[in-house]
Amino acid sequence: MGGSQDRALLDLLACPACRGRLSEEDDRLVCCSCGRRYPVREGIPVLLVEEAERPEGAT
Ligand SMILES: [Zn+2]
Repeated sequence: MGGSQDRALLDLLACPACRGRLSEEDDRLVCCSCGRRYPVREGIPVLLVEEAERPEGAT
């Protein structure tokens, strides 16, 4: 098991808010486009806009 599998998964995932690419950061998935941060619970990304943390300074 290696990181390549995670990357393949990340390639399939997209930000539900803007369809941007997601990158892994600590225990979260961060949208490269809008900056929303999605939690990962028990290894499963929770890609729900209402669950996302907005980036600071966003309106
Ligand atoms: Zn986004």
